[in-house]
Amino acid sequence: MKHSPETDSRRLLQSLRDALAQGDTGQERLDKVVSLIADSMATEVCSLYLLRDADTLELCATKGLDIDAVHKTRMRLGEGLVGRVAKRRRVINAADAPSTRGFRYMPETREERFSSFLGVPIQRLGQTLGTLVVQSKDARTFTEDEVYALEVVAMVLAEMAELGAFVSDDGAWANQRNGPVVLTGQVAQEGVAEGRVYLHEPRVMVTNPVADDPDVELARLDSALEKMRISVDRMLAETDAQSEEQTEVLEAFRLFANSKGWRRRMEADIMRGMSAEAAVEKEQSVARSRMEQAKDPYLRERLQDLDDLSNRLLRTLTGQGNDTGAEMPETPILVARNIGPGELLDYGRDLRAIVLEEGSNGSHAAIVARALAIPLLVQVKGITDQALNGDDILVDGDGGQVHLRPDDAVASAFRDKVVMARQAASKYAELRDQPAIGTCGQRVELLMNAGLMADLPSLDNSGAEGVGLFRTELQFLTTNKMPRRSQLSAQYARVMAAAHGKRVVFRTLDIGSDKVLPYMKPTDEPNPAMGWRAIRVGLDKPGVLRMQLQALLRAANGAPLSVMFPFIAQYNEFVEARRELDKALGRERRLGHPVPSQIEVGAMLETPSLAFATDTFFQQVDFLSIGGNDLKQFFFAADRENERVRRRYDTLNTSFLTFLEHIVARCASSGTRLSFCGEDAGRPVEALCFAAMGIHCLSMRPASIGPVKHKICQTNLKELKTVIDGARAAGMQTVRPAVTAWLQSQG
Ligand code: PEP
Ligand code: MG
Repeated sequence: MKHSPETDSRRLLQSLRDALAQGDTGQERLDKVVSLIADSMATEVCSLYLLRDADTLELCATKGLDIDAVHKTRMRLGEGLVGRVAKRRRVINAADAPSTRGFRYMPETREERFSSFLGVPIQRLGQTLGTLVVQSKDARTFTEDEVYALEVVAMVLAEMAELGAFVSDDGAWANQRNGPVVLTGQVAQEGVAEGRVYLHEPRVMVTNPVADDPDVELARLDSALEKMRISVDRMLAETDAQSEEQTEVLEAFRLFANSKGWRRRMEADIMRGMSAEAAVEKEQSVARSRMEQAKDPYLRERLQDLDDLSNRLLRTLTGQGNDTGAEMPETPILVARNIGPGELLDYGRDLRAIVLEEGSNGSHAAIVARALAIPLLVQVKGITDQALNGDDILVDGDGGQVHLRPDDAVASAFRDKVVMARQAASKYAELRDQPAIGTCGQRVELLMNAGLMADLPSLDNSGAEGVGLFRTELQFLTTNKMPRRSQLSAQYARVMAAAHGKRVVFRTLDIGSDKVLPYMKPTDEPNPAMGWRAIRVGLDKPGVLRMQLQALLRAANGAPLSVMFPFIAQYNEFVEARRELDKALGRERRLGHPVPSQIEVGAMLETPSLAFATDTFFQQVDFLSIGGNDLKQFFFAADRENERVRRRYDTLNTSFLTFLEHIVARCASSGTRLSFCGEDAGRPVEALCFAAMGIHCLSMRPASIGPVKHKICQTNLKELKTVIDGARAAGMQTVRPAVTAWLQSQG
């Protein structure tokens, strides 16, 4: 073998691999590793610092520093040069370390004797494991080649740590994924669940980071890249011409797949002794850390594409498909970076809970999870790196916490919570067939919100008296093509049949804002929640609305039909929408098709303006449903999807209740039926207050019906109204404290 930086590097990696293959303890292996690296790099010092916990680095092995400092010297992430390298995941190459910014002297290591310092992060796929350092007495800057060589070594060490090569006697370091971890995220659907991790896209395991023959590895990389190029080209050729967005993503894929720089870097790593898959993963790690730092959303997306491509390449190289053969556990809790609504529906109700690294409260997946009543946490940073298939996991979808590999005490406390939740559920089941009547005799109609065929069984299980809001857009969101009228009509007919004559209020398509149809050209609006959405789209481009109305009329097949238009902000929008329905009705009559025996046409009150519409509007509309999610965001000017502000204003704020009172009064004087169908209707205290204020029909998630009914049956709504009025008269900003104190006093 001729002498060159590449052959040196290869020799080092191979000797590291051989050293690690011997049956030593974790510590002995670490000691060998540092010694081999120091010899190969001709430095006096080589030290390995590994993360002891999320925030502390520990000197785990050294050649050249005082050996007594091993396992004693510790520093926080970000502290000193070593801590900085790990925190920022960036190389520090300093000829005169003691005078470099951030340097911190650790007396026990006696490192002041060493002037030059080269530290590289030990990282794997966005996860920091530690810092690898070489130091020498002479004040010199390490060459680019030396830096690169040490980076390659650090990458291989990260892979070996992943495979468990350095597990310490107390198991505390070097394999990060064996202890309990608590992660937090945002709650997109409440509920608690215990189960085992099922990874939507299992991580590819690289079992051979070091290779003997670079030519073989280059050929493997070449063939995997070629396969990937062919498959991307094929996907592009098969893409529906309508789907611009998908084409754009695939074009970006193709660009990367053909990128010379990407390929060259991987080839150089292979020449240094890495296996093809380790080289791919090294590039992927770099892309991940850039992704975390990138502010520009476009750049982030492209780096995400690169991440996806790397995964494809790894799967080809290792032969591990998406399906790694891991069986779906009995109590699966799905863990994924992100997931589409269609994929989620494929898993269906089998899932106990879903935990997403990314995702958002307003995502389509969140809408589906809510419809399926599966607890969902989003923005749980670190979950895809930490979780392994089959790990024990507890999801607290009330507090927004995930306990991965929990210890016994945590698990048993959690189980108590689950048991209590189950007991409550069985208590509610007993109430299922009873009406919701307050102790004052006031009856409250409880309906459920739905959006999928899969929701309909809940109509019987929950005791709901009907469907107060059927969000028709879910069926549009979960396909990749605009559905045809015949498909829609068949779906609506199935929904009506499953309701067994109970009332189902079909809301026409409410797209725009956060609900973007994959097959419709997205409109670029600065403020989509207040933009071209819902009925505005329906009236400006009436093709889809007309098709939907026809489908509903056909589905009713002569039976009664309830239709509701979303986001009506002024009277004429209702008139125009209703005109479309009348036209569709006329057409059906002319064609000799049966028409519904009775049609009721309602509007959603989601903008404050509608509460001040003329009397004529209130007289003409058959019923009104308050879409509290949107109404609240416009009333308080607080974005419902923005975690910073969405909980800032209380629903029981006196101003908001006074506004609701105004709506109740308007409906009472015109004899218009009124309901409330936003999320707040499913929160027991809010539901009681709405009922007390005169809203006697509430539509909510099926799971909320039991708890709300239970509370109503125990409460004198007339007395509650007096409590609310008292708090308002006393000048309270929110009536909540007064209401909760009174409810407690009632036991
Ligand atoms: C609402 O805004 O309260 C509502 C029920 O509609 P959506 O949540 O679908 O916007
Ligand atoms: Mg709405």
